Amino acid sequence: MTHRIHNFSAGPSALPLEVLEQVQRDLVDYQDSGLSILEMSHRSAIYDGVHTKATEDLASLLGTGDTHDILFMGGGARTQFATVAMNLLPEGSSASYLTTGRWSEMALAEAQKQGSARELYSSAEHGHDRVPSTGDYSVDPQAAYLHYTSNNTIAGTQYPDPPQSGAVPLVCDMSSDILSRPIDLAPFGVVYAGAQKNLGPAGVTVVAVRRDLLERSGSQLPDTMNYAKMAAKSSLLNTPPVFAIYITGLVAAKLIADGGLEAVTKRNEAKANRIYGVIDGSGGFYRGHAQPGSRSRMNITFRCSNHDLEPVLLEEAAGLDLSGLKGHRSVGGLRASIYNSVPQTSIEVLAQFLEDFARRHG
Ligand SMILES: *Cc1c(COP(=O)(O)O)cnc(C)c1O
Repeated sequence: MTHRIHNFSAGPSALPLEVLEQVQRDLVDYQDSGLSILEMSHRSAIYDGVHTKATEDLASLLGTGDTHDILFMGGGARTQFATVAMNLLPEGSSASYLTTGRWSEMALAEAQKQGSARELYSSAEHGHDRVPSTGDYSVDPQAAYLHYTSNNTIAGTQYPDPPQSGAVPLVCDMSSDILSRPIDLAPFGVVYAGAQKNLGPAGVTVVAVRRDLLERSGSQLPDTMNYAKMAAKSSLLNTPPVFAIYITGLVAAKLIADGGLEAVTKRNEAKANRIYGVIDGSGGFYRGHAQPGSRSRMNITFRCSNHDLEPVLLEEAAGLDLSGLKGHRSVGGLRASIYNSVPQTSIEVLAQFLEDFARRHG
């Protein structure tokens, strides 16, 4: 029997066991081709099938219709912090940013290296325990775009709904909650996500870009960072990260087979409710970091009221194969990352352990 632990890592993170097993079966001899997907040309007919299917399944899950292109890019989400501004922020205009944690702070800083970018809101004074509501900032109707981070992986907060930006295109770092719930893509100029949280393995960044914005991409940009050039070549301008795209495609196909985004939303709600229920029902033994209206269904950040118990909890958890529960060093405490691919069985083991730990140490 293969030994599998309960993986609550913030990223790279859990992948569906069925996907890992299929990759293992297909690794040496991909569908009777006599070679591995790792070894074949990215211009081959077989890889083309993999690439096209992954693109189509992601497009169907994201609902891109004929308004947005799906791109596969390199460099992770952090490279997109700069790439977005390089493509969408023309000289003489300014971009707007909502800052709700470390990643959005970095996104703003990278944009400011490229041009003019202004912070409309920051949750820093609240220790990033919340996301803003519509009334907390005013949209600049002249802005080139409005950037936000839909799920704050480190702080454990998540926008219940996208910000309202009028005619200003939204740009969203969806690295840690893409495909965790349905979205209406219409107001989005760009959505981007490093794959290694909710989509697949590290090495590919998925970008959905609205076609009418491609004309902003100037020819002075490096070709591989130019959305218009990448779109024109279906992300095959140079060698794409073929293995990461292949696995991301398998994860997307499985998501569709398991009922799509409506079904995964229900599963994610149930999983998050189970853990928040333990925190809220612990009589103050545990305390959640995020304000209840801003709670993330992907990353649950919490503490033991008695902080001294946290190392004890982590050690006991490790003994039960519960892994990845240490909070980010900037927030401290505990964090359970429960992305799409973390199974309900792992949630139940964690919930019962947390209840039991509180009983024994409370
Ligand atoms: C992990 C993460 C990043 C960084 O992603 P890389 O692919 O490592 O560059 C950026 N934004 C968010 C919201 C993240 O969770």
